[in-house]
Amino acid sequence: MRSFAFKRAADPSDAVKSHGGAAGSRFIAGGTNLLDLMKEGVDQATALIDISRLSLSVVKAMPNGGVSIGGLAKNADTANHPLIRQGFPLLTQAILAGASPQIRNMATNGGNLLQRTRCPYFYDLATGCNKREPGTGCSAKIGLNRNHAILGWSDACIATHPSDMCVALAALDAVVKVRGLDGKERTIKFVDFHRLPETMPEKDNTLKHGELITSIDLARSPFFNNSYYLKVRERSSYAFALVSVAAALEVAGNGSINQARIALGGVAHKPWRAFEAESYLTGKQPTKEAFKKAAEIATREARPHRDNTFKITLAQRVIVRALDNAGRGGVA
Ligand code: SF4
Repeated sequence: MRSFAFKRAADPSDAVKSHGGAAGSRFIAGGTNLLDLMKEGVDQATALIDISRLSLSVVKAMPNGGVSIGGLAKNADTANHPLIRQGFPLLTQAILAGASPQIRNMATNGGNLLQRTRCPYFYDLATGCNKREPGTGCSAKIGLNRNHAILGWSDACIATHPSDMCVALAALDAVVKVRGLDGKERTIKFVDFHRLPETMPEKDNTLKHGELITSIDLARSPFFNNSYYLKVRERSSYAFALVSVAAALEVAGNGSINQARIALGGVAHKPWRAFEAESYLTGKQPTKEAFKKAAEIATREARPHRDNTFKITLAQRVIVRALDNAGRGGVA
């Protein structure tokens, strides 16, 4: 049994002060991933700062037509909030595609962004894993790698990011607001929030240790009529994505595409935006042929491993289907 200190924070300032940036300090809210990691000995936290009672759980409208989502709002409350259902149905779909109802009732939005990979070697202390223990190698590269990355991986790590919610947030160009140890707030563009493994796979994101996620903000979206989240997984619920796609289209009066958004889950160390494919679709008619070409562009840099070559074809098909559903008003 490993002991740790526990403190309940009174407010956000107290939370960051109590954390103090100490190597063993962790914020805890829903605990749906951190507690598992601690029980397995993967995370060896020495101090938990309970932030679950801070007043950061509000979902509210912003003056510009956007929405600010509290870092401590529960996933379920966020998905079902009228402002999200009406203005950002892509986010509702993505959140409800993840985990189970019980977990969504507990898990917070900030925690969703910070959840760790589900690579089995990361959880297995008997195997080498550069993400868990830098310098010990990547067991997945020569082991079972069916569920691993095909885009953006490095020799150090081929893990994928497990979130569904984050795929939609990437497509919607969300902004993450955080409070630092000095009490100052800063914003991080969602596409810059998670990082590729490169030579530092132990670092999942660009947050500084001890920074607290206070909100996730979304600007007014032109995509609410034409978006779709499609997730393909091994079983129909409570499973992580083999491939998922958040697709959104803004369609002009003449039927052509004003702008497109395509983000993929299950294929990389971070939610993967297909920027070139999005550019290709701008000005095109929303046809299957155009969507197929966009899917080819989105996957042309893919480098599969022994067990996951199938993900390239799968990703292409999921992109085409998600775009087609988005173009038809977000219906399957
Ligand atoms: Fe560890 Fe990443 Fe390799 Fe998995 S893929 S074993 S998380 S280094």
